[in-house]
Amino acid sequence: MDNFIVSARKYRPATFNTVVGQAHITNTLKNAIKNNHLAQAFLFCGPRGVGKTTCARILAKTINCTNKTADTEACDQCESCKSFNSGASLNVYELDAASNNSVDDIRNLVDQVRFAPQLGTHKVYIIDEVHMLSTSAFNAFLKTLEEPPKHAIFILATTEKHKIIPTILSRCQIFDFNRIQIEDIANHLAYIAKNENVTAETDALHIIAQKADGALRDACSIFDQIVSFAGSNVTYKAVIENLNILDYDYYFKVTDAILAENISQSLLIFNEILNNGFDGHNFIAGMGSHFRNLLVSKDNETLQLLEVGNNIKDKYKEQASKCSLSFLVRGLTILNKTDIQYKGSKNQRLQVELALMQLCSLNTMSVEAEKKNDISKPNITVSNPSSSTNTNNNQVQQQTATNEKTVISNPVANPTPAVSSSTPAFKKTLLKTSTPSISQRFNTEKKAEETEVKEVTLNPTERPKQPVSQDSLDAVWQRYANDLKAKGKQNLAIVLTSRQPTLGSDSLTIEYVINNKAAEEALNEDKTTFLSFLRKELNNYSVSLNIVVAQVEEGKNLYTATDRYKHLSEKNPAINKLRQAFDLDIEF
Ligand SMILES: [Zn+2]
Repeated sequence: MDNFIVSARKYRPATFNTVVGQAHITNTLKNAIKNNHLAQAFLFCGPRGVGKTTCARILAKTINCTNKTADTEACDQCESCKSFNSGASLNVYELDAASNNSVDDIRNLVDQVRFAPQLGTHKVYIIDEVHMLSTSAFNAFLKTLEEPPKHAIFILATTEKHKIIPTILSRCQIFDFNRIQIEDIANHLAYIAKNENVTAETDALHIIAQKADGALRDACSIFDQIVSFAGSNVTYKAVIENLNILDYDYYFKVTDAILAENISQSLLIFNEILNNGFDGHNFIAGMGSHFRNLLVSKDNETLQLLEVGNNIKDKYKEQASKCSLSFLVRGLTILNKTDIQYKGSKNQRLQVELALMQLCSLNTMSVEAEKKNDISKPNITVSNPSSSTNTNNNQVQQQTATNEKTVISNPVANPTPAVSSSTPAFKKTLLKTSTPSISQRFNTEKKAEETEVKEVTLNPTERPKQPVSQDSLDAVWQRYANDLKAKGKQNLAIVLTSRQPTLGSDSLTIEYVINNKAAEEALNEDKTTFLSFLRKELNNYSVSLNIVVAQVEEGKNLYTATDRYKHLSEKNPAINKLRQAFDLDIEF
């Protein structure tokens, strides 16, 4: 590639219409020029490399053009346009505030502003990275910004809008530039490739666009880098090698191994990835994105969230059809947990391997749970599925059963073994039935799952059922509250100690009245743990917990320690004396 010009510069847009992905801004600017309503100060905000300076230059050129087109673009013919194109125009002045941020630099600029342009009508002053100006420089500039001469237009550009002081913000018309969509960047690269006689695979361009993270300029530099490395044939393989990106294929292969429950295979692939010099943390993060992509591929509505080339899109669709939603959601949970724990782990490789093993066991675990559900009906009221949800579940199940000959497990709604198959070959496949939406299906599966998880921990044949008394209940209850306090969960502890739990006449239903919705929510979050604690400590796995929100009169809630102390001392004034005698403080 002789005389290869840097694409970002060569293909820098020269008209509003060719700016990529910022139509909302270019249209507004064009209208303002057309109607002669142009503001004198603009603030262009947005990430780097998305076209802020480019738009500022186009604005300067267009506004000075003496022969604008009907579409309000510069003509490229007149004297002003020619001087802009050759870079000789004196009507555009750029200051990089990152390196010139002193008062003197700004004074210098302010001095120039006074002079009217010799050619054309307007002078445009672009101050890049304006948030880097020192406070005194800002102040020196403020006066000029307040009362600029008619011929001056200021364009302040920044990547960090929050660092701009309000006095500047209030004087500028603000434009927010978008991160450029991957599809738009890929299309722009394809256009460059065509003009440079470079053949490029669509998937390769998509990978470059992804790596550039919304910045067109970065994408162009990466493209140049690849062209100088791979020549005039930009392939997917060349890109991932050059950018040191882990090939999509690895993720597909690992996921296939996981679906086949082949732990050894998944560990071997991971080993290969490490041997190729990739980092385990990157791999886990990539697996997370891969599962996320599979999830959005399951529904045509969310398919647009998949930002990959068409070849890879088909691959995603195909693999997604083999995964159930609950598999993906639980898989994502495992991957996310590993991602968070990775940095703090002493044995990071094991963290990743453990995650892979857990992923491989996901389907088996649900099948085992399914078998147990068939043996005996669970005796848990963890969630109380309303009758409408049940109907919904049944519908979904029947649809799935007829179309796919597979069934989702939901023991609560459907305890009969005749409907739910329990053979090991059993797969929870939900795809291809497009009727229920993702959220419906998700809820359905989640319900099933919640119950499953509980079931795994209990062996139905040997469930202890020791009689429960109010005293033993009170003691266990108090112990849990104390535990919470020790763990720093003060608020929940207060919720649990503000009243006494009551035991139903069957000695199995524990009823607890709480004061408000907020307390109910707090308690519900912890309910599963709490219920297992109660069951274990009471040695009775048949007890259930029923939370009731009471309608309490205003002012009767005793939340704080002080409130409760007051309440007690009203009942028994001797407490006051006791407190004074021992000089006690009220503390929770
Ligand atoms: Zn012109």
